[in-house]
Amino acid sequence: MDRRTFLALCLAGCADPSMDLTPKVTPFPSQLTPASPEPLPSLTASGDPDFDAWAQGFYKRAAQAGLPADLLDRELGGLLPDPRVTGLDTRQPEFAKPFSDYIKGVVTEDRVAIGQRKRSELQSLLGPIEQTYGVAADVLLGVWAMETGYGASLGGFDVIRSMATLAAQGRRRQFAEDQLMAALRIIGSGEFPRSRLIGSWAGAMGQTQFIPTSFLSTAVDGDGDGKRDIWGSAPDALASAANLLAKGGWNRGECWAREVLAPKDFDFSLTEGPRETPGWWAAQGLRPADGQAWNGPDQAAKAMLAAPTGASGPLFLLFPNHFAIRTYNNATTYALAVGLLADRFSGLGPLTTPWPVETPLALDDRIGAQKALIALGFDPGVPDGVVGINTRSALRAWQKSKGLIADGYLSMAMVGLLQAEVPIP
Ligand code: CA
Repeated sequence: MDRRTFLALCLAGCADPSMDLTPKVTPFPSQLTPASPEPLPSLTASGDPDFDAWAQGFYKRAAQAGLPADLLDRELGGLLPDPRVTGLDTRQPEFAKPFSDYIKGVVTEDRVAIGQRKRSELQSLLGPIEQTYGVAADVLLGVWAMETGYGASLGGFDVIRSMATLAAQGRRRQFAEDQLMAALRIIGSGEFPRSRLIGSWAGAMGQTQFIPTSFLSTAVDGDGDGKRDIWGSAPDALASAANLLAKGGWNRGECWAREVLAPKDFDFSLTEGPRETPGWWAAQGLRPADGQAWNGPDQAAKAMLAAPTGASGPLFLLFPNHFAIRTYNNATTYALAVGLLADRFSGLGPLTTPWPVETPLALDDRIGAQKALIALGFDPGVPDGVVGINTRSALRAWQKSKGLIADGYLSMAMVGLLQAEVPIP
């Protein structure tokens, strides 16, 4: 009985609880001893019953979704979960890297110098891409720098295996299964073989790190050879990134953010709050840090104030293009890093307000602060140590109630103040 016949029987018989499949699970051919009786093939025999059960179920779902059996047999047969992927998916660092350290680590003079060189070398490529998609070439260079160091490190993971691992046992199983399905479609279409589908442990592929669903929907051929080779072709990778940002809402001609300065009595509870025009913000007392006027298109755009390291650090008005960058990675840190690199590539100097020196907060400090906010009647959400928008809003509300600068920034000093109010044992 070949594998396909077995699977057909299995799929037909799976609804019958009396049909015990366990004895039919067979090792890979390479693990068989010559003395074994003729093996009954199975899709996977990883030694991990959960993974094998997921694989059987996925096979059925993929077949129902129209993926051909020979493709599924070939790509899924004998698949093993990748323990490195599981480890990377579940890691939780004890200390969250302070924002300023993160930015200083990625917006380095080296990276800026390479970006400026690429900018001049690739001018004839970047100009037409910017013209076609409307996305600032410097931002595309920033994405390229952040994602793979300008194409230098594409990740070494087999995307099929990584996505299967995450679909079976990861934190975002449906997402991973959707990506696996898309990766199989890429292979099935003949566009690229599995050996080319190399990416990060999380399934991001090529020089500008496209997940398989984005590849299918959004990758484009930038060099005109008829292929969307985001691994081997920088023009393809950069044009694809431009297409993704354009679809993500990039507005041609607008900036992504401007550094601003606030007066001493500024109401910092406006941070992460309203989206208003630069004129509205000017009426609240904010002004561009470089002293230059707003450019035309920016004057009508609505921007949100961010104070990523609190009132004493650099302040930014984030324009819609900042949120378009977050199509790539929905984190303020990431989008700021891309944008700050882009600004430096374009020749702007370092920020007017320097990044402060921050004290890393231990997980216990962050959870303790969240529990204190709950005890004080403010709602940071589940006290999980992740300082997200809910924690920052709750902190701002508490700071405001105490007459403190309501910037929502959880510094070590703020942890101390909270714990002084509500001692956490
Ligand atoms: Ca191409």
